[in-house]
Amino acid sequence: MEKDSDADAFLVAAIRSGDQRAWKQLIDRYSGRLLAFARTRLRGVGEAEDALQETFLGFLTSLPHYDPERSLETYLFAIVRYKIGEALEKKRRGGAPAPGFDADESSRPLEPAVSETPSQSVMHRERVARQEHVIATLLRGLIESFRDRGKLEDLQVIELLFYVGLRNKEAADLLGRDEKAIAGVKFRALGTLREMLDQLEAEDRGLLDEVVSSDATIARVWRERRLSCLKRSTIGSFLLGVLDEPWQSYTAFHLDVVKCEMCLANRDDLAAEAAEASDAAVPERMFQSSVGFLSTGSR
Ligand SMILES: [Zn+2]
Repeated sequence: MEKDSDADAFLVAAIRSGDQRAWKQLIDRYSGRLLAFARTRLRGVGEAEDALQETFLGFLTSLPHYDPERSLETYLFAIVRYKIGEALEKKRRGGAPAPGFDADESSRPLEPAVSETPSQSVMHRERVARQEHVIATLLRGLIESFRDRGKLEDLQVIELLFYVGLRNKEAADLLGRDEKAIAGVKFRALGTLREMLDQLEAEDRGLLDEVVSSDATIARVWRERRLSCLKRSTIGSFLLGVLDEPWQSYTAFHLDVVKCEMCLANRDDLAAEAAEASDAAVPERMFQSSVGFLSTGSR
């Protein structure tokens, strides 16, 4: 539930100035989990690795637009998701891909962060961004209140209702809890949200009126900001079975019940790492194929 945002911001600043070592470091840090994620969607030989290469090139191309306030990991996952979509679309259309140079693809501007609102005005985009920020702040406050009270089993309830979109009864069945207990958790969570809402500026409260009823927006903000995702080290401890409760149960829930794709990719990557899989050479290949774009691509 935390991000290494300072370290990432430092890394990105170095990459922007053309620092090759920083670029290698970013590739080393993120190749494994992005590749594991791509492999869940692209099963042909080499397809996932191609998507990974496109992801790093796309990152360099879009670097001028990258907002360091955003989580680097989330941004990279957005790009790889986009690249996987492109690869699947190509396969769906069938036939061999149109001839061209590798660099043609990677020199195209890419802005996955704003792809959902391509034609809207800047003002509208800013308003949406502000709304999402306010929603994220409220949800994060709620999630932290569960964590601080050691009530992760109640977080499971809220995650199923708000994020996965289940009904009370479905959540009760899945968690083996009483439906009344589920309703109680939801009632208290809404109370907590209302208290936090009352402390917001009137202007921000107004912003929320339009979206607060939209479950889809809440689920999307939750997913995109990875509000209840686990630290990589927590997933590592989980795999080793050395995590204390309630974290062990919560991690199992987030992986196996919610099936969070990004945390599953992290888990698969960690598992492969533990098994000393032969992917050790992947980051070096990624570096060699992208370093040429570093100085031109990043400014
Ligand atoms: Zn997650």
